[in-house]
Amino acid sequence: MYDCIIVGAGIAGAVAARKLAEEKGKRVLVLERRAHIGGNCYDERDAYGILIHNYGPHIFHTAMEDVFAYLSRFTGWYLFGHEVVAKIGDELLPIPFNLNTLHMVYGQEKADELERKLIAAYGEGSRVPIMKLKENEDADIREIAEYVYENVFLRYTMKQWGQKPEEISPEVTGRVPVLISRDNRYFQEKYQGVPKDGFTSMFARMLDHENITVRCGADCREVLRFSGNAVFYDGKEFEGKVIYTGALDELFDCRFGRLPYRSLDFRFEHYDRPSYQGHSVVNYTVSEDFTRITEFKFLTGQQDADGTTIVKEYPFAYTGADGEIPYYAILNDDNQALYERYRALAAEIPNFYLLGRLAEYKYYNIDAMVKKAMELAERL
Ligand SMILES: Cc1cc2nc3c(=O)[nH]c(=O)nc-3n(C[C@H](O)[C@H](O)[C@H](O)COP(=O)(O)OP(=O)(O)OC[C@H]3O[C@@H](n4cnc5c(N)ncnc54)[C@H](O)[C@@H]3O)c2cc1C
Repeated sequence: MYDCIIVGAGIAGAVAARKLAEEKGKRVLVLERRAHIGGNCYDERDAYGILIHNYGPHIFHTAMEDVFAYLSRFTGWYLFGHEVVAKIGDELLPIPFNLNTLHMVYGQEKADELERKLIAAYGEGSRVPIMKLKENEDADIREIAEYVYENVFLRYTMKQWGQKPEEISPEVTGRVPVLISRDNRYFQEKYQGVPKDGFTSMFARMLDHENITVRCGADCREVLRFSGNAVFYDGKEFEGKVIYTGALDELFDCRFGRLPYRSLDFRFEHYDRPSYQGHSVVNYTVSEDFTRITEFKFLTGQQDADGTTIVKEYPFAYTGADGEIPYYAILNDDNQALYERYRALAAEIPNFYLLGRLAEYKYYNIDAMVKKAMELAERL
């Protein structure tokens, strides 16, 4: 009855499903164990009518025209230049640390001099990873690096990862570089914003196709049977293609041990006043146990709402306990080696494809995930 089974209705599964159904004429079954589609991009209105992101704030940003055009078939956009500030002492400073931040931290004369040095060393418009800035031979530049390291990275990274910046993958610290520019935006890509009616509506339109069947509340480990190197569906060996976007260790009952992840506890609060912090996202880089506060009305164009809903994010080590969600893969050699053992098992199953942040044990932004899903569907 089906040509393809896709496990997971997040962005990876939804894009692959639509492409295969629409462009390749495949009959696709999507299995999603949560009660809803959209994966971690899911959003919904809370009891006060404010559109919230249940699994943390998601801002779509991309420079890829084809990805933007593809998603735009299923949604209009509320586009803006996303800005983040960090609460350091009593001040709110632009993040990533940039030349505007520099001028707010140091007096005019010193900031002008430091700005000249930074531009001479790295070039205007460049993006410098903090660990690289710390290695500069100029003592003044190292002073800036030390300030940024102490006030922007150290405590934030300890909270988020449970480790110091130098102990985690440079790829992770490199995601928030120091910007040698006056651009206060958090991302620099051409398109940034959120779907006009929310992510969930975009997903609903994408999955609304005559060749796609979506079953929510369906864990693939209950619906499918994995035996030998075959996949069984409905009592029969399934000969079509299976795209798996769930956690790879879970699929094999964690037989080599769990893949380590960081998780997050999202605590939502509603206030009966027009604004809580006046910004969409405030990072707490030197104080508090949470990493950041998001005020949704400023993220999703709901400034007219009477009240306001915020969320605080408390990171912790994922244990696999019921209700916990693995959010961020912890990238290091040991974990990658463990992942490879699971990947070798999956490689033995014919017509079985791994796609997505969980199945590939990797961090993907939404746009990169869309691109990867489009490419896989094309290849199949
Ligand atoms: C806190 C946070 C904030 C983020 N913010 C941004 C942002 O601002 N911008 C950006 O571009 N990216 C952001 N991302 C990244 C973004 O969330 C990912 O790119 C995206 O969710 C990846 O999609 P996915 O389909 O791979 O995974 P998911 O969205 O996790 O979808 C996987 C789906 O598979 C389902 N599933 C798993 N196992 C099974 C099973 N056994 N049976 C059935 N179903 C199963 C899950 O329930 C889930 O719905 C953020 C990530 C986090 C953690």
